[in-house]
Amino acid sequence: MIASEPGGDALVRPVLLVDVDGPLNPYAAKPHRRPEGYETHRLLTPRWEAAERRRLTAAGLPGRPVKPLRVWLDPGHGPALAALPFDLVWATTWQEEANAFIAPVLGLPALPFIRWLSPRPEPEPGSGVFWKTPEIVAWAKGRAFAWIDDEITDADRAWVAEHHAGPALLHRVDARRGLTPDDFGVLERWAAGVPG
Ligand SMILES: [Mg+2]
Repeated sequence: MIASEPGGDALVRPVLLVDVDGPLNPYAAKPHRRPEGYETHRLLTPRWEAAERRRLTAAGLPGRPVKPLRVWLDPGHGPALAALPFDLVWATTWQEEANAFIAPVLGLPALPFIRWLSPRPEPEPGSGVFWKTPEIVAWAKGRAFAWIDDEITDADRAWVAEHHAGPALLHRVDARRGLTPDDFGVLERWAAGVPG
């Protein structure tokens, strides 16, 4: 574990792994009722454009222009995340595009991000374990982490408890509301209890 390495920095902080769709972009809110505090962005990222192009081509509409992705973001979330006692890391299918498209809107610097295996690995069938979970544990290498994501379940908590040696908080965020002050409170309290 990084925090206990001889001569290691005693101020190593836990990592906060940040998902975009759900915690920052409450995509599951009612389509025509943007949640309070959020602003609408229409983003044409290379990955979204390529996926939509494939979808349209498969649907027999190869010439149709790709519509940008509607994303709701709360500009208050950047400063609130930056103020937490964590090192921030993206854990999102946006990967490097989170730095190009999301971080600037929120006023965050470019952050490290987890590059997922491609094609996406499948955890044990029927286990209910989210595909990100084993990859996150492999990436963390025992370092303390909190993870905010709208797809976390108890199956993921059980998997992490069995496979990860360090402290971990798997905190599910409601994709209809995005991150709330309560979520930030949970993260702060958890970080305060992690041995430094
Ligand atoms: Mg998500």
